[in-house]
Amino acid sequence: MEIASNVHWLDAGGSNVYVAVEPPNIVLVDTGMPRKQSAIFDFLHTLGHAPTELTHILVTHADMDHVGSLAALQAASGAQVWAGADAAQLISRGQSPKHMPPVVQWIIDTFMKYGAVAQDKISIFQDGDTLPFLGGLQVLATPGHTLDHFSFFSPATGVLFVGDALNTRDGRINLTPPRITADKTAARRSAIRLLHLSPTVIACGHGTPSTRHTPDDLTNLLHSLPET
Ligand SMILES: [Zn+2]
Repeated sequence: MEIASNVHWLDAGGSNVYVAVEPPNIVLVDTGMPRKQSAIFDFLHTLGHAPTELTHILVTHADMDHVGSLAALQAASGAQVWAGADAAQLISRGQSPKHMPPVVQWIIDTFMKYGAVAQDKISIFQDGDTLPFLGGLQVLATPGHTLDHFSFFSPATGVLFVGDALNTRDGRINLTPPRITADKTAARRSAIRLLHLSPTVIACGHGTPSTRHTPDDLTNLLHSLPET
């Protein structure tokens, strides 16, 4: 589904993948769980593009449901991968960041590896960078849910890619549940930073992208967040 001009949303089985189509660039934001590469390439095909036309893959954070298919997509397309420095370290080892309850974290660390991408294939961005997509895509460090978390904002289109810094449920915008949040104070601070951008589209990692909220809705949500 097109959520903004040339920005498409794919629900890749519970986690969202976004595609910005700007020939000669085709840019993916996050990659879903492992073995989603066929579904993602099928989706690109419906948009009229071959796997080899995928040029860039941006990573919000190294949770497996966001980077699970990264290695397969990169290998098939030769796309340039962009991630934060901490996420890049984790991706190069196929590891997830630590932010889950202890038993769940142990299960993830022990049994749930995903395909790694060599570090020399990953370009590193940092807070304040602007990437040459969607009229200038701002890179925002948004730690909280995980400490390696980044978001991306396109002022030209109003689209904000928030990864797991925010999500939606039944049309409502929420923070990630506290029990899977590494740093709750940082998560609130990051949410406040994101909401102050007044995005017209909130492209979240989980839940339907929010396209119908009003500025008042964002202000009300800001006021509902405890002071940090
Ligand atoms: Zn996550």
